[in-house]
Amino acid sequence: MSKALFIVDVQNDFTEGGALGVEGGDAVAHGISRYLAAHAGEYALIVASRDWHHGEGDNGGHFHPEPDFVDTWPVHCVGGTTGAEYDPGLDTAAVTHHVKKGQGKPAYSLFEGRTDDGESVSELLEAHGVVDIDVAGIATDYCVRASALDAIEHGRHVRILTDLVAGVAKDSSDAALAELAHAGAELAVAGGGEASPGA
Ligand SMILES: [Zn+2]
Repeated sequence: MSKALFIVDVQNDFTEGGALGVEGGDAVAHGISRYLAAHAGEYALIVASRDWHHGEGDNGGHFHPEPDFVDTWPVHCVGGTTGAEYDPGLDTAAVTHHVKKGQGKPAYSLFEGRTDDGESVSELLEAHGVVDIDVAGIATDYCVRASALDAIEHGRHVRILTDLVAGVAKDSSDAALAELAHAGAELAVAGGGEASPGA
């Protein structure tokens, strides 16, 4: 029974001061780093994703000069720019696989990305016999939601580490957590340095 941690899109453009910075993003970056310091050893895989868009064009309608912040967004996470890099508060030393997604198209789920070796996330999970997946990162109401729903659809037991996620808006984040719980995800508090439940 092996376990994976997904760290979704903890990037400069999604934390305070970024093109699409969410409130609490920096705190999530630091919180995940503290969590990893105590718990990294429990995971067979630690997969971190980055939204990684093209600088040219609108990435399949994802970028828009007058975004609705639901289906269209201001320019963000252009590959190779500072905005696309991990937030400096996130310690990536324990990350085993880096996934990039969104090259030329919208991609909310980490499953839409590929590792630096070109592997899909589902291949990676199969190869390591992953049964349980814990999910942290940004944004609760978009990429965390989509990644967790995909993980459930792929037959995994999913826990959302609710103190290690941050969302675009409170209502849609609350709705996303309720939807995920309904779909079968467990909502768990990662806590400070103490052992996680069931570990
Ligand atoms: Zn994007």
